[in-house]
Amino acid sequence: MSNPTSTPSGQESNPFVQMQRRFELASGFLGLDSGHAKVLETPAQEIATSIPVQMDDGSLRVFTGYRVQHSVARGPAKGGIRYSPDVSLDEVRALAAWMTWKCAVVNVPFGGGKGGIICDPRRMSQSELERLTRRYTSSLLDLIGPERDVPAPDMNTNEQVMAWFMDTYSMHTRATNTAIVTGKPIGLGGSQGRREATGLGVALTVRESLKHLGLPEKGCRIVVQGAGNVGGLGALFLHEMGHKVTAISDMYGAIHNESGLDLPAVLDWLQEKGTLEGFLGAERLENSELLTLDCDVLVPAATENQITSANAADIQAKVIVEGANGPTTADADRILAEKGVFIAPDILANAGGVTVSYFEWVQDRMGYFWEKDLVLRRMEDIMVKAFDDVVAAAKAYDTSARLGAYCVAIDRVAYCLKMRGLYA
Ligand code: NAD
Repeated sequence: MSNPTSTPSGQESNPFVQMQRRFELASGFLGLDSGHAKVLETPAQEIATSIPVQMDDGSLRVFTGYRVQHSVARGPAKGGIRYSPDVSLDEVRALAAWMTWKCAVVNVPFGGGKGGIICDPRRMSQSELERLTRRYTSSLLDLIGPERDVPAPDMNTNEQVMAWFMDTYSMHTRATNTAIVTGKPIGLGGSQGRREATGLGVALTVRESLKHLGLPEKGCRIVVQGAGNVGGLGALFLHEMGHKVTAISDMYGAIHNESGLDLPAVLDWLQEKGTLEGFLGAERLENSELLTLDCDVLVPAATENQITSANAADIQAKVIVEGANGPTTADADRILAEKGVFIAPDILANAGGVTVSYFEWVQDRMGYFWEKDLVLRRMEDIMVKAFDDVVAAAKAYDTSARLGAYCVAIDRVAYCLKMRGLYA
């Protein structure tokens, strides 16, 4: 099995460099020519925009926002919008490229895009967030559209932000255009099942990974980093599948109980208090201790660069299922491969969300909406097929599931690129 060499110094935490390293290895397996590899590695279009916002106290502030369309070879760019002080252009580029590969792994007819605004939404009022969102939307008008680029929520954006985005676009186009974004409220063109889709997809990927490795499909000890939409709901589904979630964290710290946490009670507590801190029936741990706990399955579902060359050797899990985008660096991949850890990569494991986003876009365009059971059943079929495609590619190229997933994705995108040819 071939493994990446080390990242150039200082670049291990740059997500775009991490994406490129995996891309280069996988395109080497596929024998992709250097010209098409260059096209696929380079974002197709990116904008940086200044967003002036009148704050509630009357002052004027200027925020920076980005939108990157990595590829539209397979269809409209698809990908979320993140509001965070840590947003950077290289992060948005990486997230956009991962969307291209993710949509191709689950074979939905989208390309990849991502957006972000450098801001701290916890320190902004609802009306400031609304003005920020509307001005950002208006600066993207030449780029976006249901057939061109379809945003969605990501970290710190939600159904409300999507409703403002949709309304701003609709006011400009003089028509209600629900298919311009996904992740909308259900009463406003959203899909049943979108809220739980990513967490359920992660839990299904844990199930398929255990089955593939011949490990017990119940009673595993599972540690989850992150208790938001992906981690919290993923943990709940794993608990309902008969596993023991022994630890979970949020950005303030972790809770741990070796006999298994009462997940419904944990999520009720979190909903009420806004933090896991103080939950009875569990010991408190530092975030840094969580990832290296003894467990069968580790689910990083918070953010990028959590498993790095600094802590990979101490990971005790046999299986890692990536709920977050980019939680493991390429250097950590190499160390974990030497330890025999199976990694179900982000572009496969968290693709349940974009799969149901695709269903939402289809339903909006049909004007006909499906029952939740049908949505989730269709998503499960797609996730299981994608898992099988990835392990088959990993076997064919004698490589990891991560590079197997990149091979599946790059092959599908390169096919479309070559068939379409270049419009000169
Ligand atoms: P979220 O904001 O709902 O939850 C994030 C959780 O992680 C929160 O519990 C937060 O407290 C915690 N957290 C943040 N930083 C942390 C840190 N440094 N250490 C420990 N915990 C930390 O976000 P989400 O929607 O659950 O997204 C989580 C990850 O999953 C992101 O990487 C996102 O891009 C990815 N993702 C989300 C979806 C989706 O549908 N929501 C789909 C695909 C991928």
